[in-house]
Amino acid sequence: MKRYSMRTAIALENALLVCLVIGLVGILSNVLISRQFENYVIDQQKTRAEELTRHLATQYNAETDQWNLEFIHGMSMYALSEGYMIRLSNMEGQVLWDAQDHDMTMCNQMMQDIMERMESERPDLEGEFVTTRYPLMQSDDQVGYLDVSYYSPFYMNEYDFQFVHALNRILLLVSAFSIVGAVLLGVLMTHSMMRPVRHMVDITEKISEGDYQARISGNVRNREFHDLTQSVNQMAEALEQQETLRKRMLSDIIHELRTPVAGVTAYLEAFLEGVWEPNPKRLQSCYQELERMSLLITDMEQLHQIDDENLKLKKRPVDLLELSEQVRTFFATQFMNGQLTCSVEGTSAMIHGDPERIQQVLVNLVSNSIKYTPPGGRIRILVENRKAEGVVSVIDTGIGISPEDQKWIFERFYRVDRSRSRKTGGAGIGLSIVKSIVHAHGGTIFVESKIGEGSRFTVILPKEEL
Ligand code: ADP
Repeated sequence: MKRYSMRTAIALENALLVCLVIGLVGILSNVLISRQFENYVIDQQKTRAEELTRHLATQYNAETDQWNLEFIHGMSMYALSEGYMIRLSNMEGQVLWDAQDHDMTMCNQMMQDIMERMESERPDLEGEFVTTRYPLMQSDDQVGYLDVSYYSPFYMNEYDFQFVHALNRILLLVSAFSIVGAVLLGVLMTHSMMRPVRHMVDITEKISEGDYQARISGNVRNREFHDLTQSVNQMAEALEQQETLRKRMLSDIIHELRTPVAGVTAYLEAFLEGVWEPNPKRLQSCYQELERMSLLITDMEQLHQIDDENLKLKKRPVDLLELSEQVRTFFATQFMNGQLTCSVEGTSAMIHGDPERIQQVLVNLVSNSIKYTPPGGRIRILVENRKAEGVVSVIDTGIGISPEDQKWIFERFYRVDRSRSRKTGGAGIGLSIVKSIVHAHGGTIFVESKIGEGSRFTVILPKEEL
């Protein structure tokens, strides 16, 4: 399928719209102006006929009962040149002057000229010469009749037609200029409008090719484009972050595996070559190295499971308080080893969820608290029973998390202090697993923390079945 650029599409649409509007305005104004002009001509013709009547009425002398035929002759000739044929009669009906009788050839010539012109210019009018009778009045007395014949409904002379044609040409010219101007302006406008879009396309192409550092720069005035720019930049930032975390995690895994493998290999080589005797202390060291590897593999396994199964939950009623107690019991030795106290507080809160997964959430949160709380610290698991949801918070008096890190800790492979985490053995995926499980239950999780004071992780789970 042939795809047009947005610029071409908008420019074409613009041009079409402008042509339509200007075409309509042009046609309408042409029709209205022509009609107005015709009305004006009709009025003018009536006024002219009345004027003739008024002037000719003054040419009667009541005292002598005589008409000034010389003046009437002059007027008649003048009126004929304008397209009017007159016939004057006295009160007795006697014709005193008839333009047609006086100069038949000239009258016929004039009538033919007008009819030919009107029929060629305005055949739609189907006009003809019509005679109207006007009374000739002197004060209140009628002194005769005037029959005026002219082409009806109206006629226009050569100059009138030239004027109408010139008007039409001007309208056409103005329309053509407006269309060209509007199209040019439209093209310019779409060009400047599409520039940021072109830039966005270039940048998103770069991002799709793996250049996650690419960002859309510059200021866009259009709100939608601005929002789009923000989203694309945020997406690139997230991808960049993910990419960094992925690379970091890969190098971490390599490192985490190499150290214990190298250690165990060295021990085994020494045993095989008879350099060392395998005593319990040395075997214990080997065992610890293998355990570290096993922990890492368990972490990776959890992550793989979450990805693979797309988190199928086996839901049933679960009491968050009961689960919290179980988790506390599960970690009892570790609390003792870390010289930490742990309490479970609150009321029982029944929700509908997968008990194993929710236990996994609590285990991850409490194990983090143990890892990041120095000896002598305190851990509290607080359960709240709200109307529509169960809430469980894990609160510790540990090292805390900076506001900047709080934004990222739920992302995969994110670890605040990489060197310290190596010692504690985390790969930076515990909290991302926690987040996935909570979201799969339709719940939310958030952290509140202060460096040096401790952290509080709150999990809110809806009660009703989703
Ligand atoms: P890890 O396996 O490294 O603990 P997590 O995803 O569980 O990974 O946690 C991510 C990071 O968040 C950790 O590296 C740690 O720095 C920080 N963190 C998590 N829980 C706590 C806590 N209770 N106190 C302080 N820091 C924490």
